[in-house]
Amino acid sequence: VVFPAGVDEVAGCLRAASEWGVPVVPRGAGTNLSGGSLPIEGCLVVCTSRLDRVLQVDPVGRRAKVQCGVTNEAVQRAARPFGLFFAPDPSSMKVATIGGCLAENAGGPRCAKYGVTLNHVLAAEVVLADGSVVELRGAEDGGLDLLSAFVGSEGTLGIAVTADLRLLPTPRRRRTVVAGFADLSDTMAAASGIVAARVIPAALEFIESGLLGVIAQSSPGVFPAPAAAVLLVEVDGEEGEVEHDADLVARICGEHRALEVRRARDQAEGEALWAARRAGYGYLARVSRSVPTMDVTVPRDRLVEMIQQARELADEHGLDLYAVAHAGDGNLHPAVPFDPADPDSVRRLDDFRWQLQTACLSLGGSITGEHGIGVEKLSGMKLQHSDEVLGGMRALRTSFDPGGLMNPGKVLPAGGGAW
Ligand SMILES: Cc1cc2nc3c(=O)[nH]c(=O)nc-3n(C[C@H](O)[C@H](O)[C@H](O)COP(=O)(O)OP(=O)(O)OC[C@H]3O[C@@H](n4cnc5c(N)ncnc54)[C@H](O)[C@@H]3O)c2cc1C
Repeated sequence: VVFPAGVDEVAGCLRAASEWGVPVVPRGAGTNLSGGSLPIEGCLVVCTSRLDRVLQVDPVGRRAKVQCGVTNEAVQRAARPFGLFFAPDPSSMKVATIGGCLAENAGGPRCAKYGVTLNHVLAAEVVLADGSVVELRGAEDGGLDLLSAFVGSEGTLGIAVTADLRLLPTPRRRRTVVAGFADLSDTMAAASGIVAARVIPAALEFIESGLLGVIAQSSPGVFPAPAAAVLLVEVDGEEGEVEHDADLVARICGEHRALEVRRARDQAEGEALWAARRAGYGYLARVSRSVPTMDVTVPRDRLVEMIQQARELADEHGLDLYAVAHAGDGNLHPAVPFDPADPDSVRRLDDFRWQLQTACLSLGGSITGEHGIGVEKLSGMKLQHSDEVLGGMRALRTSFDPGGLMNPGKVLPAGGGAW
């Protein structure tokens, strides 16, 4: 494992690895949930944790230049005094690095309104497998958009060392509304009602009862209880608009038989709700030491069916299920505790995972929303993409890395394909 401190050192590491034919696994904070940064036999892990500086915040150009090992939260901290923020907000933002966010095309609760990492990266300086350094810019620079190809490539095309990020003006006002429901369908009908009313929530989160119970053990009373599910909604913008939208959200939840609707009195109370939501998966460590969090996306109006199918599949395989969803964009995250020491438990988990992906595709969805493919969903790639498309992806990868040394065995399943 190497910890380079600058672009030259990253380039030196990759040049040496290329000369010796050693595979390279890039690593930021290691928080990805699909196994993309797992080392493989005989590899060199290049960890970016020392590339941790915000180099410049430009309030007029509304952009920041950062080293790619810096955390998402450090970028938010640096932008705040200028009244700016970086929109992608994975719940792991305290530790997740910008390089990891680029490589996974990370989203987060706010991406329903603001979009994912790809929408907020202007350029990236990348070290390629042979140690050469290139700058990738977006489509507005003319030519083919290699920056977009790089974002989401999970370490298979090179190592991002610096990035230019788009910053947005911090909304003057945020307001959080939380509503508890007795029924899953009512919860999602309320979510659809909010969207249909032309509110664009900054975040529209669904949390089901199992995870609410776990959160309540550590943060009692934060969310309405008892409830089959909770909607956690944030609206942001100008003051009048925000109050109007928050009223509308509360009214729509009431019309869909919410048991309780609460409006956070101020930003601090809103933050407490979001902190409890973000900590939810951490709290699951009390339930089990091994809790894979999965990631499937379906059209928003199919989310109830997806949740019901996930539950039925979990029951069928004798597994417990805890779930949240970014309801604004149909992205469901079932967390399923299992016992890695028990082959039967591993088999049931694998069967569940496979059937979950199949079910989501049959609902017109995608096997990932934001956690990437890594090693977890290699076989699902063959379900989702044609041979021709997989072949095109392999060809692109080869053009960046002819020797196939960058994060091999990740993202693209071996064999098959037209190229
Ligand atoms: C509690 C928790 C909550 C989470 N919530 C969210 C969420 O809301 N939304 C979301 O999208 N994700 C979420 N994630 C997943 C994860 O945090 C994100 O994917 C994050 O962007 C990964 O960043 P990282 O620094 O940990 O990258 P790592 O896990 O270290 O690496 C991720 C991938 O990127 C590659 N990589 C790392 N750095 C570079 C680089 N500089 N250049 C090229 N490739 C690189 C690695 O090889 C690997 O394939 C969550 C994870 C946890 C544990």
